[in-house]
Parts: sequence; structure tokens; C-alpha cells
Amino acid sequence: MTEPAPGRVDMVKLVSLCQRRGFIFPSSEIYGGLSSCWDYGPLGVELKQNIKQAWWRAVVRERDDMVGLDASILMHPRTWEASGHLKGFADPLVECKSCHLRWRSDEVKGDGCPSCGGELTEPHLFNLMFKTFIGPIEEQASVVYLRPETAQGMFVNFENVVNTSRKRLPFGMAQIGKAFRNEITTGNFIFRCREFEQMEIEFFVRPETDKHWFDYWIEERTNWYVKLGIKKENLRLRQHTKEELAHYAKECYDIDYLFPMGWAELEGIANRGDFDLVQHSSFSGKSLSYYDEETKQHITPYIIEPSAGVDRTFLALLCDAYDEGVVEGETRVVLHLHPDLAPIKVAVLPLSRRENLVSLAKEVCTDLRRNWMVNYDDAQSIGRRYRRQDEIGTPFCVTIDFQSLEDNQVTVRERDSLNQIRVPISELKKTLQAKLEGEDLFVLPPGGKIWKEGEVSK
Ligand code: ATP
Repeated sequence: MTEPAPGRVDMVKLVSLCQRRGFIFPSSEIYGGLSSCWDYGPLGVELKQNIKQAWWRAVVRERDDMVGLDASILMHPRTWEASGHLKGFADPLVECKSCHLRWRSDEVKGDGCPSCGGELTEPHLFNLMFKTFIGPIEEQASVVYLRPETAQGMFVNFENVVNTSRKRLPFGMAQIGKAFRNEITTGNFIFRCREFEQMEIEFFVRPETDKHWFDYWIEERTNWYVKLGIKKENLRLRQHTKEELAHYAKECYDIDYLFPMGWAELEGIANRGDFDLVQHSSFSGKSLSYYDEETKQHITPYIIEPSAGVDRTFLALLCDAYDEGVVEGETRVVLHLHPDLAPIKVAVLPLSRRENLVSLAKEVCTDLRRNWMVNYDDAQSIGRRYRRQDEIGTPFCVTIDFQSLEDNQVTVRERDSLNQIRVPISELKKTLQAKLEGEDLFVLPPGGKIWKEGEVSK
């Protein structure tokens, strides 16, 4: 992590918004919380699911050379011997002799304890894997580990997937799932958690084409973030130095993001060479080679691995979406989330609680719910309700007023421009669909018109 970034959104404000509006809560909060574990609330779970769906769509559904996988979290313990995690997945830990706080020695600047300045112990290696037991007996023979990454599930299924999917090189597997690391230093909200989610790709290629596919995935993955609303200037590529390169990697780049606390890794893209298939082959005794029909030879593919974190992507998207401005003398907080990601796509707001308005609004709401996550809100002034929706990033508000009862038309308000159009209820769904897919608000459906600000009473 680099120095804190001036001018970036204040993390305290983000954390407060997340808690206040039900995006993220501390885990087991009523018991005082559990360090570096977080619960995603009603809006958080929607945003998180939308991120995962957008990733899955881009890397699995829209491609012919990728398949999905969902491997179990607990794996045979030999997996972690073969992968090198049992020996090597460790961080250098130092402890303060005065206050007993523990730190990652590579993150400590200077000689003393970052908290109290006390003397630190010599570093010793601390394995980050969580250990547990399988079955009813707690003994060495039944030790298993919570996976610290999803990747290994894909390597050990290489043969299964090749045989059943009939994919030819180059092809890849994608997986989304929980991973666990007993991190020494945590913090910065959901940036570094002990339980988190990864979205990983293992892309198998002919060894001589590794450079091409490595560059390809770096570009592809960078573009994915930009398409979803991360500003280009807040992303950078950083090549790993020889000293920091992981034992399995030939080459590695991080896609860094300018978080409020500075530049830090959002996703890592590694050329893992043939390390994983060779290791698992030798530890399992099963040949994990690939029969190349063209050359009639068995080869061990190289693997290009783009590995992203769901939680870090969530945080980066929130940082770039957060905006504060003043509208009509009041602070307006807006999350400019991409419509694909917004937890609620449309809010339906009857102008008053009069029964005939409410019943029309509920009718409209029920119909829209068949397509999207929709919020119905009839509490407080319309201005307040707009602010509430802006703050959670709802792209469109549909207002139902007294005139709607006569002309069967409703007003659609766009979050980002604050512009409004008036459309027939019969055209509403089609109109919203088009706008959610990016059509300009002022492209009107039959019978629609541009609505002047102020025509809907506040
Ligand atoms: P760092 O250097 O920040 O510890 P790493 O290099 O160990 O990260 P990888 O092993 O490359 O991370 O994991 C791939 C991705 O998984 C990371 O880019 C990140 O998005 C996510 N990730 C890793 N560790 C954590 C964590 N403790 N909490 C949240 N996300 C994480």
C-alpha cells in the first residue's frame, strides 16, 4: 500500500453510508463484532451479486473458451502440500515486546512498533491458512484447511473438465467462491478481510503462447473495470519485482486501484507456467497432461491466472461511485453506480398515500418486480424519497401523481442528470429496459414527452 490518497472519498463516510443504508455490517455486531469479518446487508448482497453476475457474464457466458466450476471449500490436505501453501503461504510476523500487537514485518516502516514505538521481536513465519478437523476426531490425521484461494479447485479438476467439456486449448475455467486467510494485519474496511470472496480464472494455453495470453488477459480485465464505471485514472498496472514474485509465478502484474488509503492491489494476473499441473501430477500420481491432436503429443499447458477479489471490487466501485453535491440548498449524496450493478433498479413513488394513488403505484410495482429489484416507497416528501434513492444508487424513480389516474402516464426521473420524462404506463417497462441498457433518457416512447423540472410537486 502506498501513501493515503488526497482528494479521494473519505473512508469514514463510505463505512457510515454502508452501515446506515444496509450495505455492510460488522460480523456478529451484537457481540462486539469479529475482527475483519463483515456481513453484507439487504443492499450489499444485491450489489455483490450483481458484481459476480457481471463477471460471470463477461468471462463465462459470453465466451466459447471458458467454463464454470464450483469446487468445495475443504479439499484433500495433500492439495496444499502440492501447491506449496503448507510450506510457503506465510507472512513474516513480528510482535511488539511492550504492547504485544502483531505486525507483518514487511509492512512496518522503521524499527519500532507502529502503535507504541516499542521494541519488536525477530520475524518468524506465520502460516495464513485456517486449520480445522474433518470428522468427529480432532487429531493430526483429520486436519483440513479452509482454502486460502479458489484456484486449486480448478487445477485438481483439470482432467475432469477436459474430459467432460471437450474444450481444446486454449480454454479456461472460472470460479467464484469464499476464501479464508488468517491475515496478520487487517483493516481498511472490506479491503483486507479474513473471510472474503474471490473471482478467479485459470486459463490453460500452449506454453509457447503464454506471453500473448498474459497480455490479453491484462487488457481484458482492465477493460472490465472501466466498463463497470471505474475511472481509468484510478487504475494502474504494477509489475511484481523478482523479489516479490510468488514461488509459482513466472511473471505477475497487479491491477492496482487508488483506494482512499493509497494505491493497492485490486486484482493479480499471473503467468503460473506449468507449476500447478506438474505439482498436482507428481503429488497425486495422476497424469495431468493434455493430448494435443495436432502434434499427437502430450503437453502440460501453461496457466494464466487473473485473480480478483469480490470485496475489493465492491469497495473500489463504491469509491468511484460516491459523489456529494448541493441541490436546492441541501447536500445530495449520490452513488453513480452502473445500472447493471445498482442494487435497486427502479423505485416506485406515489406522490401521496391516497388510496387510489397507492393502488395504482402497487400495480405498477408488481409488474416491474417481474423484471428487476424494485423499491416501493411512500414515506415522507417526494424530495426526501428521491434523496434516499440517490444515496443507494437507484438509476430511475417512477413517480405516480394525481394526473396519472387520468392520463395513465407516469414520470421517470434519471438519477445522474435529474432529468424527467413522462411516459404512458403501457410503455413503462420497455422504456426502463432501454434506459437501463444505456439509451438516452430523451429518446421517447410513443406518447412520451420531456417533463419540465418542477411539474411534479416536491
Ligand atoms: P495482498 O498483497 O493485498 O495481500 P495478495 O497478493 O495476497 O493480496 P492474491 O493472493 O493475489 O492476493 O489474491 C487475489 C485477489 O484476492 C486479490 O487481488 C484481492 O482482490 C483478493 N484478496 C486477497 N486477499 C484478500 C483479503 N484478505 N481480503 C479481501 N480480498 C483479498
